[in-house]
Amino acid sequence: MNGLKEKLTAVLKAAGADLVCCGPIERFRDSAVKKLFPEVKTVIGIACRMLRGSRRGIEEGTTYYQYTTSVETLEEVILPGVLLRGCTVLEEAGFEALPQRRTPLITRHKDETNFEVDYAEVYTGGEAETLLDFERCAVDAGLGEIGDSGSLLTDAFGPNQRIAFLLTDACLPADPIREPHLCDHCGLCRKACPGQALRVDGSRDPWQCAAYYKGANRSKNPFMPENAFADEPERLKIISGEAELSPEQARRVMDLIRFYPPIKHAMTASMCGRNCDTACYVHLEEKGVLTKKFHTPFRKRPEWTLPINN
Ligand code: SF4
Ligand code: SF4
Repeated sequence: MNGLKEKLTAVLKAAGADLVCCGPIERFRDSAVKKLFPEVKTVIGIACRMLRGSRRGIEEGTTYYQYTTSVETLEEVILPGVLLRGCTVLEEAGFEALPQRRTPLITRHKDETNFEVDYAEVYTGGEAETLLDFERCAVDAGLGEIGDSGSLLTDAFGPNQRIAFLLTDACLPADPIREPHLCDHCGLCRKACPGQALRVDGSRDPWQCAAYYKGANRSKNPFMPENAFADEPERLKIISGEAELSPEQARRVMDLIRFYPPIKHAMTASMCGRNCDTACYVHLEEKGVLTKKFHTPFRKRPEWTLPINN
C-alpha cells in the first residue's frame, strides 16, 4: 500500500478537493458508517471550499442566485466527481470504496426538513440509520471542529466548505483529530440569524431556519412586497424575525415566499445568505486565525438592513 494515500490525495486534489483527511474506522462514532460498509477500515474526509466571492452578492444585497448555484455545483457536480475519481484510484489498487455525498432531499429524522431545498421535495422515510452524520464524521476524519453554530469549522476556510466521504477497506495512514480551537463561543452566529433559528445548545430549528433561509425576514429581503403575508395573524412578528414558527406555519410562510424559484435539485436561493456562517467567517477572519488569507477583508462596510414597516 506504499504511497497509496499520497496518490489518492493528489488525484482528489487535482479533481477539485481542497482538504483530504483519513481516519481509521475505530474512531468513528457514527454507527451508520459500519452499517453502510461493514468491512470499512478507513474513512476519507474530503472538503471543497465555498468560494468567498459566491457570498458577495448577498453581502451587498444585489444577487442571490450565485451563492445557491455555487452550493449546487459543489454538491451535485464537483464533489461527486471528486468521489468517483477517488473510488477509481482505490479500485485500481484492488480495494473497494463507497462514495458518500450529501443527499439534500432525504432527511435523517422524520418531520425534519433541509433548509437549503424546497420542503415539498424532501423525503423523510426510512433511511435514517444509514445516512451519515456528516459533521460528526468530518471531525472524526480530522477535517476540523464543530462550532456553536453546528457548522464544521476548518483552519483554512472556517465555516466555508462542503464535504463528502469515501469509505474504503484499504488501511490508510491516519491524520490526527483536530483539537477544537477555532470556536470561541462568541455567539455571533446566533445573533446573525434573521430568524432566531439557532438554539443556545447549538442545534438548529430546521423549520424556522428553512423559512428564514428563504427570506421571511423583511429586513434582509429586498424582494419582499409591501403586502407580504398580509393574511397571516402573526405577520409583523414573522417579517421581523420574532415569530416562533411551528412546522405548519413555516410551511405556510414558505408557500408564500416565491421571490426566486428553486433551481435544479430543488435548491432554493438563500435570502439570509447563511448569515450564521458569514458572521462566523467574518469573526474568524478578523481574529486572523484562518490559514487561507485574502488581500482584503470580506466585510468591507457595515451590514445593510431594510426597514420592517407595517
Ligand atoms: S460565530 Fe463564534 S460561536 Fe459561532 S461558531 Fe463561530 S466562533 Fe463559534
Ligand atoms: S442564518 Fe440562515 S442558515 Fe443560518 S440558522 Fe439562520 S436562517 Fe438558518
